[in-house]
Amino acid sequence: MDQSLLAERYFDNAATTPVDERVLREMLPYLKDGFGNANSIHEPGRRAHAAVDLARSRIASLIGAEDPSQILFTSGATESNNQILRSFSKTAVSPFEHSSLYETAIQLGGDILSNDGLAIRVPESMYDLASLMTVNNEIGTIWNPRDLSKIARFVHSDLTQAVGKISVDVSGIDFASFSSHKLYGPKGVGALYFQGELPQTLVIGGEQENGLRGGTLNVPAIVGFGAAAEIAADEMEASFKLVSLLRSEVLDGLSACSDWRVNGGTDISPYILSISFLGVEGEALVIELDREGFAISSGAACSSHSREPSHVLRVLDLEEEWTRGTVRISFGKFCSPGSARQLSASLRRVVENLRRMISA
Ligand code: PMP
Repeated sequence: MDQSLLAERYFDNAATTPVDERVLREMLPYLKDGFGNANSIHEPGRRAHAAVDLARSRIASLIGAEDPSQILFTSGATESNNQILRSFSKTAVSPFEHSSLYETAIQLGGDILSNDGLAIRVPESMYDLASLMTVNNEIGTIWNPRDLSKIARFVHSDLTQAVGKISVDVSGIDFASFSSHKLYGPKGVGALYFQGELPQTLVIGGEQENGLRGGTLNVPAIVGFGAAAEIAADEMEASFKLVSLLRSEVLDGLSACSDWRVNGGTDISPYILSISFLGVEGEALVIELDREGFAISSGAACSSHSREPSHVLRVLDLEEEWTRGTVRISFGKFCSPGSARQLSASLRRVVENLRRMISA
């Protein structure tokens, strides 16, 4: 398939996004002549260091951080989430968190907060650190992590599905995690924002990042992350308008289809659309749509190899027949209204065919 058509029919942007051409162009010199180690004091090192500094400022500015030094580069949100949870002893995370917080909290003996539908119940106990994501990766629900400041000395938020998509301001949050590849940057690089108290070091073995993370900096990836942040800041509004339109196209196209529902409540990011269809398997829909050239997901990409519903769908208390028929459509700036209309038509046809086959 032609590359631009592939991106146009790619509706799994919450799993990862294609790299923007402009990002790639900024990265390439640092894979060639700009190969210096950002921690060396000679000219090639200083050049790499300056490029990392620029990226750090661009990223700090995108999330409203007061100072670029509050951005610690990591390999991605998974590492940032692990690092922050390991930095405190009495922790609690929401039941909707990505597995890099949810599973880590369980393994480390942290608490999982309980919920009333989509509302987080605020317990009596006090924690050192509590974590609530700003946008959920499966159902798109938006929360305000500051609500947890009543129960914790420090508040962390996973901003992975929010940064570059909706306007984000980290004031009032102590720590935040996010990844470059969700905003058209390269994979394997992300950040941990911190304010005040420093998180504990997870990767030991060098003076890089002020001793907070050992290992030679991945300069080309960091440069790409910074370029992606700059572009996202410039294009956020236009992109938000486009994805809102794409979302309406898909929903309008389904209006004649029966027995389906949208999950996630009323305050939802337009980038993520979780739909459940009665009487079909989400996985079958993903496979059939893939045959028609569309990429969607049957849940979080990280758990889509499992046949079990994700912990997020489980805590939502959907009846099992709805949970089974759940798919996630996630929009991006390379999708077009035409491709959204085609996706919706294919989805409706596939759902109806599968239902006919099952009832025959
Ligand atoms: N948190 C959220 C909300 C995510 O959507 C993801 C990616 N699916 C991650 C964390 C992990 O990001 P990465 O795989 O880049 O470490």
